[in-house]
Amino acid sequence: MSTTLSPAPKSANEVDVKHTECFIDGKWVPAVSGKTFATLNPATEQEIAQIAEGDAADVDAAAKAARRAFDSGAWPKMDARDRGRLLYQLADRMEQEIHALAALETLDNGKPLNDSLTADLPLAIDAIRYYAGYADKLHGSTIPIRGNYLCYTRREPIGVAGQIIPWNFPLLMLAWKWGPALAAGCTVVMKPAEQTPLTCLRMAQLAKEVGFPDGVINIVPGFGPTAGAACVKHPLIDKIAFTGEHRTAQIITRDSAETLKRLTFELGGKSPNVVFADADMDAAVEGAYIGLFLNQGQCCCAGSRVFVEKSCHDEFVEKLTALTMKRKVGDPFAEDTQQGPQVDKAQFDKIMSYIDKGKNEGAECVAGGDRVGDTGYFIAPTIFDNVQDDMSIATDEIFGPVMSVLTFDDKDDMIRRANNTFYGLAAAVWTRDISNAHDFAARVRAGTIWVNCYDVFDAAAPFGGFKMSGYGRELGEEGLKPYTESKTVTVKL
Ligand code: ADP
Repeated sequence: MSTTLSPAPKSANEVDVKHTECFIDGKWVPAVSGKTFATLNPATEQEIAQIAEGDAADVDAAAKAARRAFDSGAWPKMDARDRGRLLYQLADRMEQEIHALAALETLDNGKPLNDSLTADLPLAIDAIRYYAGYADKLHGSTIPIRGNYLCYTRREPIGVAGQIIPWNFPLLMLAWKWGPALAAGCTVVMKPAEQTPLTCLRMAQLAKEVGFPDGVINIVPGFGPTAGAACVKHPLIDKIAFTGEHRTAQIITRDSAETLKRLTFELGGKSPNVVFADADMDAAVEGAYIGLFLNQGQCCCAGSRVFVEKSCHDEFVEKLTALTMKRKVGDPFAEDTQQGPQVDKAQFDKIMSYIDKGKNEGAECVAGGDRVGDTGYFIAPTIFDNVQDDMSIATDEIFGPVMSVLTFDDKDDMIRRANNTFYGLAAAVWTRDISNAHDFAARVRAGTIWVNCYDVFDAAAPFGGFKMSGYGRELGEEGLKPYTESKTVTVKL
């Protein structure tokens, strides 16, 4: 592909915020109410832009546009392979705009530009390309039933997909949701997180430019209890795909009961990251460090409970603390920054309150434990050692750069403790013993198990939770199913 890459902004001042309105039926429109809300730069606490504050009226317009686009017009007539082509073209456009998109993500979310550019963007582009290839490979089967009949199934798109995404990986969560929905032939009403609407709005424009028909993709920025809840309740929306907190998923479950929507949820976690004494210690230290501090600790699968075998505890904690103390916290646009600010004041306050709780509950703070600077939501990467299972820092999802180190000396007891949570999103084990690794993988109740690695994601590998970490899976072939209905056709011969 010939690419003219967008220029690379070097600071927040150089980032071009192009879109701030709702995107409905292929047009940029203000909210019906005329209201707007501010999106802030978490590194400076300054306003970036005023964004249209969509609510029920805007969701209604978006749902109607998505319904029309699903039922008639170019989209349902388009060959599946051409739908796939549009997705490939969207991925190509994202690649051309990679610097602009990465900078917009960093401006709005606070994550280091280097991370946006080398992780979020490539993973998002890859997910769109992966699903582009699936558009013409979704098919049913012929079934040998009793009698003189031809029986077959058709895999049809589910209809209008309502997609509600969080602020921690705004573009990546968009790609995980648009990819399978559009490949399957659905139309979309998306509600981005109120903290981070900018890349989602930019993506709507890119989709328009590559030729997605009007109404196929609609964006309603706004708040959860208004715009989000309106998506959940709208009778023309067939399905809700949600990523966020389990408490919000409980509200969504109740709010969707009236219309019996299909639901997929990707929720929180308190993932165990387990280090055996026979592990490659340097790799395990690096894995614990990345597994928790990546993305300012704002990962649903963060390895926030690090269980370390007693005999290697001291060496492990010493190395981990030394590495953590070197972590560079600061301006997310600076080249050497490894950790930016937390996304907003509410998250900052919540994390600081957990740091206080950890100290008060008697855990030993061996790194960090304070905010960094006095402007922006920066928090020093923090490690608590000698954490006990019942301390709130060991049971609650903190969603910030706060690690709890626990020790174990009996494997069966450790597995019981690892499973002693209502979450079940991810887990990891560090060991050179292959049987031990597979035994752990089989016995820990979580949707993803990493062995001697952490945070390895691929568009082809399903991701999702056991227990209260979610319903259904995203990514891979499994990620397509929730966007389809199976229809059985029986023909008398
Ligand atoms: P967080 O606390 O990390 O922001 P949430 O679960 O509250 O996590 O938010 C994730 C997404 O869900 C956001 O887009 C948010 O606006 C949306 N949301 C919040 N409350 C509701 C709700 N009652 N109904 C639908 N969506 C909601």
